[in-house]
Amino acid sequence: MNEDIHIFGGGITGLFHAYHHVKQGNHVTLYEEKDSLGGVIGTRKEKEGLVELAANGILLTDDIKSMLADISLSPVFPRKASKRRYFWTNQKLSRLPISLLSGIKLLYSIFLKKLKFDPNLNFEEWGNQMFGSSVTKNIIEPALGGIYGTRLTGLQADTIFSKWDGSGKSTIFKEIKKNKKKTYGTVSFPNGMGDLVSHLVTYLSPKITIKTNVPLKHLEELGNINGSIHICISLKKLLPMIDANLTEDEKPNLLTITTITRFGKTRLTKKPCFGVLFGKKEGISALGVLCNSDIFADRVTGNHHSETWIYPKLAETTSQIEWETILETDRKTITGKEDTPTSVYKTTWEGVFPAYDLNLLRLNQKLELIESNWKTKGKEIRFFGNYRKGIGLRSIFESTSF
Ligand SMILES: Cc1cc2nc3c(=O)[nH]c(=O)nc-3n(C[C@H](O)[C@H](O)[C@H](O)COP(=O)(O)OP(=O)(O)OC[C@H]3O[C@@H](n4cnc5c(N)ncnc54)[C@H](O)[C@@H]3O)c2cc1C
Repeated sequence: MNEDIHIFGGGITGLFHAYHHVKQGNHVTLYEEKDSLGGVIGTRKEKEGLVELAANGILLTDDIKSMLADISLSPVFPRKASKRRYFWTNQKLSRLPISLLSGIKLLYSIFLKKLKFDPNLNFEEWGNQMFGSSVTKNIIEPALGGIYGTRLTGLQADTIFSKWDGSGKSTIFKEIKKNKKKTYGTVSFPNGMGDLVSHLVTYLSPKITIKTNVPLKHLEELGNINGSIHICISLKKLLPMIDANLTEDEKPNLLTITTITRFGKTRLTKKPCFGVLFGKKEGISALGVLCNSDIFADRVTGNHHSETWIYPKLAETTSQIEWETILETDRKTITGKEDTPTSVYKTTWEGVFPAYDLNLLRLNQKLELIESNWKTKGKEIRFFGNYRKGIGLRSIFESTSF
């Protein structure tokens, strides 16, 4: 197509977007404010094993498979034993924490009940109406909390399922079927998620112009650039640039996430598993825990077990010691035993993504308006990132394609 494309932000959103444009034959210039690319994604090699700084895996689809082939990167598939996934509800581990009656109600809600979103209800209130309180509390709350980094009261159904028809004409089953693409489970890479960044950078470097240490400071700067401009910086960094255009109820609620990778000599659960998701008011501060060394081979050295615990912002924590105590208390609640870790590695990301709530829905409507106003003035300027169509890497990969 030979178009000139200027991409601001060299996190995974910018890298995926650059990849799609290279495949289309466009001329890409990528501007990144730091001296390295990849954004929050990265892997540290510690003496006990790999420590992921943000994403631990990516959901594999056919399109992602062909991108991995292009960048010469082989996925690492999870071990079979990690198919086991636990919920921690009512103070115990279980794989399906609902009664037969609630299960039947859930099936009815998925296959027969008309899907209607209500902007006046948060996800918890909407879920109670749609599925009943037992399914909402014991399955949906732990499952979505671990992905969206907050509790259901801080989320909105129509923001999360923005592609679904929630006008009361369709059902959940029909919407899942309509939007479904074949997937092959969550995968990682031989040296962790950092491989995805390094292979993308190696593939892109000879094909595009990369300018590091070049920050976008104001949107006004963009007026002087010829060609299409695609803004892929994080929402936290974008907000000060668009703040004056936003009303109070269009301002997003940015979330802070802490992950702690713990290496130890004992397994969290008796049998190997993918991890455990935690419900609200279950005496656990974490949203979820991934059992890394059960999921992927070669994540640890020696006979270590590796777990990554995911925490929302907690009022009381200020130091590493406090985080360790919180983690070990959570862990003891599950195992019933005291244990001492070999080591723990903590990463905190302030305002790393927004709550998928009503404010975010309104913000996205405003961003579409801003994009179309620019278009009427003959300028193609668009926004991409984990605040547009989903937090996960697969959603970002698809939303940066065209
Ligand atoms: C703890 C955690 C765990 C996660 N786990 C998973 C998972 O297992 N699977 C999954 O699919 N997803 C996961 N995610 C989500 C996923 O990792 C993120 O949504 C995604 O990496 C965000 O990428 P991004 O490029 O949009 O933003 P960022 O990574 O924030 O990148 C933005 C880039 O823009 C640059 N930049 C900022 N301001 C400017 C400026 N003014 N000018 C130029 N450049 C600028 C930054 O330096 C950065 O390089 C997780 C996220 C977190 C935080």
